[in-house]
Amino acid sequence: MPTTLLWFRRDLRLHDHPALLAARDAAGPEGDVVPVFVFDDRLYGPSGEPRRRFLLDCLTALDADLDGALVLRSGDPAEVLPGLAWEVAASSVHVSADTGPYGRRRDDAVEQALGDVPLVRTGSPYLVTPGRVTTRTGTPFQVFSPFARAWREHGWRAPAGSPDGVRWRTGVRSDAPPPAPDLGDVVLPPAGEQAALAAWAQFRDERLSGYDEGRNTPGTNGTSRLSPYLKYGCLHPRTLVADLAGEPTEAVRRYTDELAWRDFYADVLWHRPESAREYLKPELQGMGYDSGPDAEALVRAWETGRTGFPIVDAGMRQLLGEAYVHNRVRMIVASFLVKDLHQEWTRGARYFMQHLVDGDLASNQHGWQWVAGTGTDASPYYRVFNPITQGKKFDPDGAYVKRWVPELRDLDPKHVHEPWTAPGGIPAGYPEPVVDHAHERQVSLDRYARVRAG
Ligand SMILES: Cc1cc2nc3c(=O)[nH]c(=O)nc-3n(C[C@H](O)[C@H](O)[C@H](O)COP(=O)(O)OP(=O)(O)OC[C@H]3O[C@@H](n4cnc5c(N)ncnc54)[C@H](O)[C@@H]3O)c2cc1C
Repeated sequence: MPTTLLWFRRDLRLHDHPALLAARDAAGPEGDVVPVFVFDDRLYGPSGEPRRRFLLDCLTALDADLDGALVLRSGDPAEVLPGLAWEVAASSVHVSADTGPYGRRRDDAVEQALGDVPLVRTGSPYLVTPGRVTTRTGTPFQVFSPFARAWREHGWRAPAGSPDGVRWRTGVRSDAPPPAPDLGDVVLPPAGEQAALAAWAQFRDERLSGYDEGRNTPGTNGTSRLSPYLKYGCLHPRTLVADLAGEPTEAVRRYTDELAWRDFYADVLWHRPESAREYLKPELQGMGYDSGPDAEALVRAWETGRTGFPIVDAGMRQLLGEAYVHNRVRMIVASFLVKDLHQEWTRGARYFMQHLVDGDLASNQHGWQWVAGTGTDASPYYRVFNPITQGKKFDPDGAYVKRWVPELRDLDPKHVHEPWTAPGGIPAGYPEPVVDHAHERQVSLDRYARVRAG
């Protein structure tokens, strides 16, 4: 009786899953599919605790959807997969393609190790698989807008059909999963495909129409909060855009644009895998950064949300409280670390990857490079976010700051972003600003001018 393996990675769902259908079809009407997830220390080890916990919870949900058939194994996939394929006499191993730098190397190694058993890649976690959209001359796009135009023109497939008729093999031995990290008070979203689809339906029905405005106001629940689900493939972006087809509103266009950013950054990483660590604008490599005990104390203030700049502190406390930060605030806190505290973007990117539940190499590293002015797009280095004006503009009533910084809850909104202007001064327990923003901005610009002058 034919048996195939379905190796789950960043596609922890059963619906709209082309690789799952390929595994079913290869097994045939009489055959079985063995669903497996491999804990690979190279990926699992460096993940921060929120991501590990969310992944474990997603696997529990997936196993429930599979009626307990999910096989868990631990080790190097290039050893585990051939071993399991032999054990269950699998004729093929099916995956959704991984286009990240490590995933590509790992899959090549697994493919080799499998020998005669083919590793079949069907679909990817993106609307358009990285590498597919290129300029007319076949080179990769360097900036977002022309990429997005070509990406829309390229288009994407309809969602994959229903997973009916799969015979999941049960009773295959599993390794015990790693222990679940205790996150203390950190509140993560509910895990798994059902939770993802419910979150999407709620956003679509209740908040999408206001997305154009709401996506920039961190004090309102204006965005979809789907990033952890997209990261682990609890749903596919194709499902979302298919659901929106025929609704050509500005909000829908804007939402699809955000999904295009996700594809764009994955495309950049596919073409330039070194950009996970190295500057996309190498001429800025020689920027001067601060070090020593005083600089470390400032970084610590940033990490713990005690810089004395309310919107920055609210963002960093949201990161520690929910393992998530609103997009506008990600830009503000990142700019503050790089241009007010003069730290290299890689340091902030590492900290985010440790603490974000949606931490994703392509979106995170390139988001940081964008803010630092070292990346693909036209956010120049000399664009320095002013945390006070950003706060006043995007959190005008102070709702976001008040939610995350309880010391400032009693302030009149007009003082929330500048608590030192409040009649009674800075409320007890809240720090004074750790730097003078105007001064640090100038320091950054001077360093930028020097590095540009060579
Ligand atoms: C410094 C920095 C670091 C970031 N790190 C990550 C990260 O590790 N993981 C991550 O998923 N996103 C990251 N982003 C992008 C963005 O902040 C998040 O995707 C977004 O805040 C997630 O919230 P949401 O699902 O409610 O977004 P929505 O506004 O509802 O957007 C829908 C989806 O579009 C995608 N998206 C939206 N904005 C972006 C963007 N700028 N770049 C890439 N994809 C986007 C996400 O998948 C998101 O879930 C980062 C941005 C910055 C500036």
